Parts: sequence; structure tokens; C-alpha cells
Amino acid sequence: MPSLAQVIEVAVPLPLEKTYHYLVPAGLVHRIATGRRVFVPFGGRRLSAYILGTVECDETGGLKEIIDVIDDEPLWTENELDFFRWIASYYLHPLGEVLKTALPSGINLSSRKGSAREPETITGGHTIRFETLYRPAPSPPVQDTLGPKAAEVLELIRREQEVPAAELRSRFGQCSTQLKRLAELGLIQQEQREIYRDPFREQVTRRDSPRELNLHQQAALDILNQAADRQAFAPYLLHGVTGSGKTEVYLQAIAHVLEKGRTALVLVPEISLTPQLVQRFRARFDSGDIAILHSGLSDGERFDEWRRIRRGLARIVIGARSAVFAPLERIGIIVVDEEHEASFKQGEGLRYNARDLALVRGRMEGATVVLGSATPLITSLHAADQGRLGLIRLPERVRGNPMPMVDTVAMQGVNAAISPQLHQALQETVAGGGQAIVFLNRRGFATFLVCGECNQPLACPNCSVTLTYHKSRGRSVCHYCDYAVPAPGTCPACGCLELKELGAGTERIEHSLQDLLPGARVLRMDSDTTSGKGSHGRLLSRMADGSADILIGTQMITKGHDFPGVTLVGVINAEASLNIPDFRSAERTFQVLSQVIGRAGRGDAPGRVLLQALNPGHYAIQCAIAHDGESFYRQELEFRREAGYPPFAFLARIGFSGTAERAVEERAEAGAHVLQQLRRELKLRLEVLGPAPAPLYRLRGRYRRQILLKSPIRGDLRRLLAAWFTRRTSVATVREFVDIDPVDMT
Ligand code: ADP
Ligand code: ZN
Repeated sequence: MPSLAQVIEVAVPLPLEKTYHYLVPAGLVHRIATGRRVFVPFGGRRLSAYILGTVECDETGGLKEIIDVIDDEPLWTENELDFFRWIASYYLHPLGEVLKTALPSGINLSSRKGSAREPETITGGHTIRFETLYRPAPSPPVQDTLGPKAAEVLELIRREQEVPAAELRSRFGQCSTQLKRLAELGLIQQEQREIYRDPFREQVTRRDSPRELNLHQQAALDILNQAADRQAFAPYLLHGVTGSGKTEVYLQAIAHVLEKGRTALVLVPEISLTPQLVQRFRARFDSGDIAILHSGLSDGERFDEWRRIRRGLARIVIGARSAVFAPLERIGIIVVDEEHEASFKQGEGLRYNARDLALVRGRMEGATVVLGSATPLITSLHAADQGRLGLIRLPERVRGNPMPMVDTVAMQGVNAAISPQLHQALQETVAGGGQAIVFLNRRGFATFLVCGECNQPLACPNCSVTLTYHKSRGRSVCHYCDYAVPAPGTCPACGCLELKELGAGTERIEHSLQDLLPGARVLRMDSDTTSGKGSHGRLLSRMADGSADILIGTQMITKGHDFPGVTLVGVINAEASLNIPDFRSAERTFQVLSQVIGRAGRGDAPGRVLLQALNPGHYAIQCAIAHDGESFYRQELEFRREAGYPPFAFLARIGFSGTAERAVEERAEAGAHVLQQLRRELKLRLEVLGPAPAPLYRLRGRYRRQILLKSPIRGDLRRLLAAWFTRRTSVATVREFVDIDPVDMT
């Protein structure tokens, strides 16, 4: 008797909105299950596709057969699929691409099939292994003609600065011929290095036990524990000043959830920058209970961690934004630490925001969600005002030490990066055996070269930005595309040899400090000095053990670590971030200044802050100085209301980019035209703004334009976009993307 043919519905990892049906040959039927992957023939190629479910159908004419079933275990649960479908619909992104983003990339390494390393060998193994690394040569000769593959390999090595051989193989397949040739030409160098091991695992952590909480912390914990016991979705904003003991509250709330047999997910902005937080988890819980997803993991290691979570072996997952997809089941609590950080938003591909998705996943799982910050987003504070988030406050520092005293130094007419006042304060601090942090609010304010003849700054030929001058590397570098020229060099416009240094980058401040304070031990922390693995941690520990006096750095130094010895914080160019063309620039400035001010005086000695600004009168600066988040919130909310920005409007951005300027312009104009038409037809309350050149008009050789959609009604925005998706046409030369709830408008 002929049985009904089995047909499955699959999603493919391509930018296609549709799902597809395939026939399953009788021999493979027993291996079909939702959550596994299959190989399917697709447009003449073989693709791995994701099984979404089986379909009953007796009309199977024309359907193709699957080739094979890849996985023995399902990769996701029904619950997770619901979450992925929600994401696909909300961000208007194909489900297959959502699945691809959500699953660890190491899952595609075919070599891993069946040769699974058990997690214990990662933690317990003490054999030392070496890997081969490739780096760009420091002073490469004039480039010979290279084949396309060799050129691609070289480009990657130059971009990444160092690439392990294994990664090259997984990206390019066999490429030893190309590597040999590049090395012969003197374009790259090869080196052996001990395999990088998770720095957190190396640390010997002393076990500690829960602290006795102060009254505010206890009240916070009671609320969270009661919520967890109800096992229903409960979202909270934990607003606590720096050092108020938020992390201790997370730890104890998580312990409670684990006792009840559920699991915990902890999202942090960038895990390599928060070693202290990870260490505190290690000290409190069994290492085997914790999975850490950080950027230092290779694809294979990431896959191992992922599988340990999938199998229920790790009950606490700590990671950066992509950890929101971690295959945890029975989630009882989700913590989003530093919820205001922009890095929770992914800037390309699936442009999701992990902070927002934490709330969605929490709702689906019936979990408690804690958004923690000393400087919450304006939109979070507003949601708390409206009762959509429960508000928990920790208004005091644990140790009872007061917030630091802040003085401003008006820099008008001061012809130096470091004012006499800051110089003196640094001198006194170092002489007294204290430590200082000098923070450079650098965005848009790095050192660059300007021609002494024609006054043109040295600019990137691919991007509309000036090149940053790196004195020690002898190069001017584009921070967007990595274009680099030898520096100081000559002016490309007029050939003049006399280039002047302008701006004040960290490197320049470091030199000034060494001149001003001979003998002081100065450390610099920025993306240049921390690109090597583990270098960030080494810098931090030199500061922590007192073998450095002054730490100078960018935003990176404001993140989550505690230096009890720091009594002085100097801020260079406090208002730099106010000049960024983005409606959130005041909010960002307030946040970063509050965070950096909070770095002072966390130990026993009282803290002091000296803040240099050309114009210290702006409310973002004044409120940060006064530690007055309440007043900042009120003023900023008023500005948002008047200007029609979140939380009073919902935004979406449609971007167009391409190498042909005119084509991009035409596509963007045509897009705006269609959007206006749809807006009128559907009678939507909505503004279509633009198209306008993106603030960063050229990026990596591509011209960029964007349209901003703004509506007080989210449903209207969604209806417009859905209609646009069915109406739009596309051309091959212009790339388009939709960014829902954009965070970076440049
Ligand atoms: P936050 O996360 O708000 O910055 P932390 O949780 O890091 O604050 O707490 C700041 C410091 O105070 C840490 O060194 C922490 O170990 C300590 N701490 C936190 N809670 C307590 C407590 N109840 N008793 C004693 N020390 C505490
Ligand atoms: Zn560039």
C-alpha cells in the first residue's frame, strides 16, 4: 500500500522571504525532525536548509527530493522557533537568515561532524598546543600582481592584523600555495604561538559567598525573587548608581532561580571588557555551570560551548549580544547589564537589538528580565514611568563613599590639550601615591594630518572621514576601511611635504603626559593597544596591582571595571560627542560622562574629577557633573517630545548604498516616492524624511543615502514597510537595507 509522501517545509540561509517544500525519500523519513538541517538541491547548488516542520500533502508533483539529513540532534526547540519567527517578522528579515545568525557559525564546520570534543577537555586539558599565525609585514614592498585568491587572503590578514591558519582554511579552503607566495613576496609574516586559551578560565578564582545585602539591595532582591517564583514574565529596570551593588543583586537573584530548577542568561555589552564581572560569576557558581560566549572563542570553541548549553550542561550563560540566541531552556531570569549600551544593537545583516530581544524572549519564556544600568536609556526610564517596566532603584553606593567632586575647566583660550589645572592635579595625585585615569572623549577627535600649504586634512579616498595619524606605527589609517598610507608623507592634493598634526588622539595625550610628568608610569588603553588577545586584561592588571600611575584611554576605560586606587579622573574634551549628528548625542554624552565620573573614588579615598570642555554649559554636561540623572531625564524627554523622537515616535531607517553615486541617488529617490505614495494610500500617520546623504556619506568606496521613517504609531510604521516590501523593485547595483529601531544613524 503506497504511503503518503512525506513533505517538509524548510528555510534557506539566503535573503529570501519564502520558505520551500521538499520531498523526503523513504530511506530518510525516520531522520526528519523540526530543528535539524538537510541538504537540498537549490537553483543548481547544494544548500543546507533548516527543517521548519512536515506538511501533509498528496500533490507532490514537481517537488524535489532532499539529498541528506545533516544533524542527529535538533538544533532548536519549538519555543526557540517561535522566537526566531517573531524576530523575522519584526525585523522584516528572512527566517533562514535569522536562523543562520542565531546558530553558531562553527556548526557549519563539516570536520566537526562526529568528532565532538567533550567540554571537559576544554577546561581540564593542560597540554600546550601551538597554532600558526599570519600577520601583515610591517613595511611591505611594492605589491606584485597577485591572483584573486591570494589578494583576498592578504586583504583579510591586513584587515584583521593577525589571522590563525585554521581560520584561513575555514574561510578559503586550501590556501597554502597562496600563503607561501605572499610570504615569499614579503607581504606577510608567519609565526607560531601558543594557542589562545580563555583568559577567564586561566584565572584562579577564590570562591566567595553571597554578601549580606544592604537595605536597598535586599528590597531589590525580594522583588526579583518573588517575580521569579511566579514564573511569569516580569520586566524590571534596575537603576543603580555605579558601585551600588547591582552585580551582587544579579548574582543572588540568579542563585535563587537556579535553586528553582531554572536557568539564567546574562547579556553584557562586550565580554572581553568585563573580566571582573565574569570573575565574580566564576567565584560564586560552579565553573561547569557557566558557559561564556566571548569574541575570543574560535568557531569550534563557540560550537562546543553552544552544544554544552543545548545539552543542558550549563545553566548560566554569559555573553555579548548574540548570546540572546543561546539554546537555554527553562529560562528563569535574563539580565541585561549596562542596558544603555549601543553595542547591543547589531549594525549589519540582521539588525537586531539584544536588549529589546531579551524582553521578547523573557515574555515567551515567562522569565524575569532585569535591565540594569547607572544611566538607563531615556526610553527605558520612560517605560518605567509608564509602568511598562517595574522600577527598582539602588540610589547609594555600597561602601557609602560619596560621589566624587567634579570641577570643570573651561578650555577657551587654553592652547594645550592638558590644562594647567589638570597637570597640577595629576602631579599631586602621582606624588601622593594615588592613581589617575585620563579619559579622552575621542569620537570625531583623533589626531590627523593637515597640509600646511593647502590646509586640506589627509582624508580616506574610500570613506568621507579624515585619516587618523598613528605616530608609533608611522601610518595614517582610516578607522572604517583600514586604508593606510605611510606617514607623515606628503599632501596628496598639492604634494607639499609639510603636514601638521591636529587634534588630540590618545597617543598624543600619552606623549604630552610623559613630557609633563617625567617618571610617571603611563598606560594607554584604546583599540590600538588592546588588539592583541589578552592585552586588555594585562593593561587592567597593571593598573590593578599598582604598577602604573596613569591610565589614559577612550570609551573602553569607562566599562565595568573597578580601580579602588583611582582618586583622580581627568576628562579631555567632554563635549566631543555632542557634535555627532544624532538625536541621541546628548544622551550618549551624559551616559559616558556619568560613567567616567563614576570611576573616581570607588575605594576608600574620596574621588575628584576635572572635566575640560570648551563649552561646559550644555545640560548633558551639567547634569553629569551634578550626578543629576533625574533632571537630565526631564530635559531630554522634553527635547524628544518636541522633536518627535523615541519614546514619542518609532523609527525605521532605509539605507541605500553603491559604488555608482547617481544610481544610489535614483534608487533612494524612487524609494522615497513609493513610500510617500503608500503613506497616502494607506492613510498612515507617518513621516517619510529624505532621502538624504548619510552622515558618513562614503564608506569603503560606497555612496550612502538614507530615508528615515518616523511615526507615533508602531503599527503604521509596520504597515508601510510591509506594503513597501511587496511593492519595491530592486536593482543589482544598489544595496538596500531596512533598519528597525536604528541606534546608529551615521
Ligand atoms: P555595581 O554593579 O552597581 O557597579 P557592584 O555589585 O560591583 O556594583 O558593587 C560594588 C562593590 O561593592 C563590589 O566590590 C562589590 O563586591 C561590593 N559589594 C556589593 N554589595 C555588597 C554588600 N552588600 N556588602 C559589601 N560589599 C558589597
Ligand atoms: Zn576608509
